[in-house]
Amino acid sequence: MGVTKKQIEYVVNELVGEEALPFVFYIKGKKHISEFIIAEELDEEIHKTRNILYRLFEHNIVTFTRKKDKIKGWYICYWDFNEKTIPYLTSKIKQGKIEKLNDRLQKEQDNAFFLCRNACTRMAFEHAIEFNFKCPECSEVMQEQNNQRTIEFIKEKLKELKVAKT
Ligand SMILES: [Zn+2]
Repeated sequence: MGVTKKQIEYVVNELVGEEALPFVFYIKGKKHISEFIIAEELDEEIHKTRNILYRLFEHNIVTFTRKKDKIKGWYICYWDFNEKTIPYLTSKIKQGKIEKLNDRLQKEQDNAFFLCRNACTRMAFEHAIEFNFKCPECSEVMQEQNNQRTIEFIKEKLKELKVAKT
């Protein structure tokens, strides 16, 4: 099953950043592309090109083989797009987000939160008590906040993540 453009964009944006997208789409569908050619074709400096390629490599999005150039005597890396890792990374990112949201949800459900009237701070009970329920920014008394809407919002986000296809 092929990987969609949208999936690739999602993974690369999340893990490396938007600036890496042209590199991935340039390498995709080609084989063993020299980093010098990639830099030249994308009109980028070789240092920047290598930097982005290594950052992609750290997540296993691309792979490389290193070969010594017989004439120049230095090593050149030849790069490939590792398409098969995309579905795995997609679900890994999603799983990470779900876990984070679950932790936040747990925290919201288990704690009372206090909010400054001027909205400078919001903190859980155990921190608010350290400040005597006074805002550390403006000294205004902090009020307990009904966090039902926050809880609903997190639940909604979780639901979206669970049904999303990417
Ligand atoms: Zn305040």
